[in-house]
Parts: sequence; C-alpha cells; structure tokens
Amino acid sequence: MEKILVSRCLLGHRVRYDGGASGPFDQLQQWLDDGRVVPLCPEVAGGLPTPRAAAEISGGQGGQVLDGRAAVITTEGEDVSAQFMSGAYQALALVREHGIRIAVLKANSPSCGNLLTYDGTFSGVKVPGEGVTAALLKRHGVKVFSELELPEAAVALVARELAPAGPFSGPKKPERG
Ligand code: SF4
Repeated sequence: MEKILVSRCLLGHRVRYDGGASGPFDQLQQWLDDGRVVPLCPEVAGGLPTPRAAAEISGGQGGQVLDGRAAVITTEGEDVSAQFMSGAYQALALVREHGIRIAVLKANSPSCGNLLTYDGTFSGVKVPGEGVTAALLKRHGVKVFSELELPEAAVALVARELAPAGPFSGPKKPERG
C-alpha cells in the first residue's frame, strides 16, 4: 500500500506555532483509516516547542535555506534554520523508510508550504515558493500537495497504485549472456 506523508497539524494535532491545528479533512481521515498516513511536524521534530514564535524565510525560499543562502527567522529575530533543516531531513528519512512518493503538507508554511510562503517581512504578504521541507522532498522526487489540493493528491495516489499493475512494470527478468 502506498503511504503518504502528512503534516501533523492537518490531522488535528495541535502542533502549529500558535498551538492550533487544522481540519478535520475527510480525505485525510480516510487515508488514516486505511493505514497509509505517516504523520510528521517538521518544526516540532526539529526541536522547536509549541507554541513557538512565528517564523518566515528571509531573503529566499526553502531551497535557498537548504543551500545555506537564506535563513528562517522568528518574530523575535532568532535564526531557526537549523531546526527547520533538521525537520526537513527527518521528513526525507521517513520518505525513504516508507517508499513515499506523495506528501500532503500544510499550505503557506515556511516548512510545509508547497506553492506559497510568506515573504519574510511578517506583513502577511505571500509570495510564490516553498517551505524548507517541501523543497527538500520535491528535490527527491516526492509530489507535494497541500490541504487545498486533496483531490489532486488522491488522483496521484491512484496513479501510483495502478502503476505497478501496468504491462511493463513487473520485475525485470535477469539478463543472460
Ligand atoms: Fe508543523 Fe508543518 Fe503544520 Fe507547521 S505546517 S505545524 S511545521 S506540520
């Protein structure tokens, strides 16, 4: 069965920076019932407390943080890039452990956002880009969706599950020479 990495806050876990959570989402509950959800909050896994100061990426996007060319800074001016990176690499470890190819991560987060993040000025302005965890997973071939794209994630899941049954996807016969 294909597993899916899911942001913990989307599962009702109160791990958001402000102590809140999102959901419930029927599709995620279905996948939980199926036993295919692997939950993770990268920021908590990276060692940050809940609640915690809000953070935004300053001077770039998640990819630049991974490359050491931008930083994640809190409203209190603390650089939490190391914790965000740690959480991202823990997500990658789970992806590898479970053979995950699809993730559903919270929209707009500096860790989990897959299409937009806040612009680093704490003024509520969103810009195209992705959070640190989303960027790392995308680099490693994971399709990253948000809670706003659950139908698209479901289609991708069906495509993944049908793929192994295709006519040319079985195990290769050993070559003989
Ligand atoms: Fe944790 Fe990601 Fe949710 Fe933020 S968006 S609380 S990092 S799971």
